[in-house]
Amino acid sequence: MSHAKVNETARQAPEQPPLWTGRFYNEGVDHDHDLWMDKLKEECGVFGVYGHSEASHLAYYGLHALQHRGQESCGICTSDVGNFHYHRGMGLVKEVFDNEFLQRLQGENAIGHVRYSTSGESKLANAQPLVFKYKEGDLAIATNGNLVNAKELRHKLERQGSIFQTSSDTEVVAHLIARSQHERIEDAVKEALQEVKGAYAFLFLTKDKLVAAADPHGLRPFVMGRLGDAYIFASETCAFDAVGAVYERDILPGEMIVLSQDGYREDRFAQVERRATCAMEYIYFARPDSDIDAINIHSARKRMGRQLATEAFVDADVVTGVPDSSISAAIGFAEQTGIPYELGLIKNRYTGRTFIQPSQELREQGVKMKLSAVRKVVEGKRVVMIDDSIVRGTTSLRIVNLLREAGATEVHVRISSPPFMNPCYYGIDTPNREELIAAMKTVEEIRQKINADSLHFLSKEGLLQSIGREHEPHETKHGMCMACFDHDYPTQLYLEKEQSPVSGSRS
Ligand code: SF4
Repeated sequence: MSHAKVNETARQAPEQPPLWTGRFYNEGVDHDHDLWMDKLKEECGVFGVYGHSEASHLAYYGLHALQHRGQESCGICTSDVGNFHYHRGMGLVKEVFDNEFLQRLQGENAIGHVRYSTSGESKLANAQPLVFKYKEGDLAIATNGNLVNAKELRHKLERQGSIFQTSSDTEVVAHLIARSQHERIEDAVKEALQEVKGAYAFLFLTKDKLVAAADPHGLRPFVMGRLGDAYIFASETCAFDAVGAVYERDILPGEMIVLSQDGYREDRFAQVERRATCAMEYIYFARPDSDIDAINIHSARKRMGRQLATEAFVDADVVTGVPDSSISAAIGFAEQTGIPYELGLIKNRYTGRTFIQPSQELREQGVKMKLSAVRKVVEGKRVVMIDDSIVRGTTSLRIVNLLREAGATEVHVRISSPPFMNPCYYGIDTPNREELIAAMKTVEEIRQKINADSLHFLSKEGLLQSIGREHEPHETKHGMCMACFDHDYPTQLYLEKEQSPVSGSRS
């Protein structure tokens, strides 16, 4: 086995005695909350089609490819020579739609949405696309992200007489559009988006137009492609592959694309403020086969694993990744160190959303239902376990203990991101700061808590280098948002306990 590529300082990591003294994988886990897989929750995904005779079917396949971004509800709205058709439901795309529904969604233009509720309750009324009547006709809206000043705007609009039907942020934008004096939808959208703050990829559909808009920081990914003469929009490029579309480009921060009978038009509703693409998309949220800003996610994660190996090498017998999002980083770590990559952990793909909640006694089986350690791979071995992040720490403890129970003699945990210390306000469902283990404990305390022999996180510099985005002179942090690691939020925050907007970079 060759470890020649690893730098010498990393080699000198101090040896620590194995800690494993327990007998059961869940020993030491705090059961106050029922979190089988204590992962951050993806936000939402959007998909749009302009000018294709099978728009609803394309939206179906596109949303299916984006299903990892939200599994609670989904919907598609089409426009057909002035008529709107739409269907929304709770559940997965394949459960909510069938051929009959799709046949009824006539029209050449469509927008679709998959949702995990980041704001607003989880119920059908909040499933998107949301469809409204306004003075110029029907309007459907689908969005991915979160508006940080939505509550403030909602209160203001309510005081001025607006009545809200849902608790979704998206309705705030619909009310702003409805109140605009502009007749053209693109002008009304422009005016509305100049009022909102936050992270978003918006799709607006009227009887004859489709408008796509990205927030002025470019926080959420949003791409445009072509399928023949049709235009396709999606949260991630993996949706293009699903429908045979060709990637054209990313929607730029503060940019608006308008499609109508007059053709394709590029416009701007805001200047780029500070480009700040979400770093967690590269680390965890996006699918490995997607590209963001022309950077492939799998390749970026492999580089994170390689970088982690140079920053925190440990001698071991096998490297394994927590499936699915950590496998690319684990391959990178193995490539860099020469330690063989093995499938030490297997995910059960069929527990799904409808899995029956276990009784209190069986609840402790939770992680075992989702993950298994492969005994023949890890027994008697020193294992490096790569994970993409640690949120509360409960799942890490369970997985470390799973490996130990399967016979691993040492478990060294390497995390392919810096410590996640701050909540996200841009469309990612994160716990309060007090629940984030990295905000409350030192790395050594976390190591003890998760029962690992050693623990290291990727450095912030190492992360930016691994993502590999060009560093433009006018940008900070290579144009990335890193706020959950460094508290440098790219926008003002409108926190409820604050009376007024506060700077995004308080410490
Ligand atoms: S705070 Fe973190 S999760 Fe939220 S947008 Fe920024 S990098 Fe992404």
